[in-house]
Amino acid sequence: MLPQKRSAEEAEDLTSTAMEHKIAEQPALSNGKTNGHANGHSNGTNGHTNGTTPTLAGLDASKLTITLADPTARAVPDEATACTGTETICTDHMVTATWKYTTGWSAPELKPLGPISLHPTASVLHYATECFEGLKAYRGHDGRLRLFRPDLNAKRMLMSTLRISLPGFDPAELEKLILALMAVDGAKWLPPSRPGSFLYLRPAVIGTQAQLGVQAPKEALLFITASFMPRMDAPAGGMKLHTNPEDMVRAWVGGFGYAKVGANYGPSLLATNEARERGFGQILWLYGPEGYCTEAGASNFFVVWRTREGALQMITAPLDDKLILDGVTRRSVVELARERLQGEVEVVERKYTIDELVEADKEGRVVEAFAAGTAFFICPVSQIRHRDYDIHIPMVKGESGQYTAKIKGWMHDIMYGNEQHPWGIVVEEKQQ
Ligand SMILES: *Cc1c(COP(=O)(O)O)cnc(C)c1O
Repeated sequence: MLPQKRSAEEAEDLTSTAMEHKIAEQPALSNGKTNGHANGHSNGTNGHTNGTTPTLAGLDASKLTITLADPTARAVPDEATACTGTETICTDHMVTATWKYTTGWSAPELKPLGPISLHPTASVLHYATECFEGLKAYRGHDGRLRLFRPDLNAKRMLMSTLRISLPGFDPAELEKLILALMAVDGAKWLPPSRPGSFLYLRPAVIGTQAQLGVQAPKEALLFITASFMPRMDAPAGGMKLHTNPEDMVRAWVGGFGYAKVGANYGPSLLATNEARERGFGQILWLYGPEGYCTEAGASNFFVVWRTREGALQMITAPLDDKLILDGVTRRSVVELARERLQGEVEVVERKYTIDELVEADKEGRVVEAFAAGTAFFICPVSQIRHRDYDIHIPMVKGESGQYTAKIKGWMHDIMYGNEQHPWGIVVEEKQQ
């Protein structure tokens, strides 16, 4: 009886079992500079587990080769115009590393920015074998350049990578490569004369094998760019959200909403554009017949409200059903609020529905709402439209609620070095 039951459970949990296997195999990657086949694709899914597999190399930032661009070739645009064009303006350099199932990771290269070349049959172009990360580099008011908790981005990228059967790597090595790019490009593209400014870092991994068979790619490319991105944290009048159309969901339980894979984003644009045409900035994604509030666009979502008993709560969707992305910003908000608003505001991670929110609004209990993510930072939400009902959210502190403003201020101070904090990682910049 028992063995039968176990195998049934295993069959039911195939995805999480597969992920657990892959994650368990990752320690072999961590200093996998020379050890055996376990440090390459590191699993049996590609069928390369026999003893004859050659030694595979792990991703190794210490092997980084550097080819510098002509620093006079491209000028740094003004912040005001840097994001007005139709193309993202990147810095002078990018980092790349390739992976092959027979050899593992190549020595990473830091080299002049330029197009990458793919065969038309490359896996990523057909089967969405792509995942990415987004984090910022901040030029501090003290002149130093910082990243904010980049270890969390690197770990999340490994998780996303494994979820779509791309090769594993040691997240610490990815973090070093991100730092290396900023060490080279920081001084020119985010100079100390622009304190309070940021650049956006975009690491990505794609499946590059030129083979139309539906299978885990046997070749991959990791690349990192740094670019300008507009400030989006303070739209005039606050961010306006529209709930998703009833016939569309962003992610589902059993899906991959928790992974930063490209496949989550393209299909969401249809609803987003429709909302934009109606004057709303982002979709508030609801889930299930109950209408659980999950995320605001590609940001996590928080509401501050009063319970019927009069207690102040800061509520956000939970991570345990793997529906939403485990945002670095979300996690930081939760941790900071628990530490610094203790006794004043209770932080609650639980499922809550749009009906609860509408009810709270009707009873005058909605205090604040905000979106939280790297791109939008902490962005006050002023309105939520659900079907024909409008929730108008107070902005007691000018263009923000007071708790939203407090949390935003704390995060800003850590990012820009006004507060020395272990979350702010200083980039050791090359002397120019
Ligand atoms: C990237 C992202 C977030 C925010 O994550 P951060 O780590 O805070 O930038 C939230 N939701 C989705 C769907 C995302 O893609």
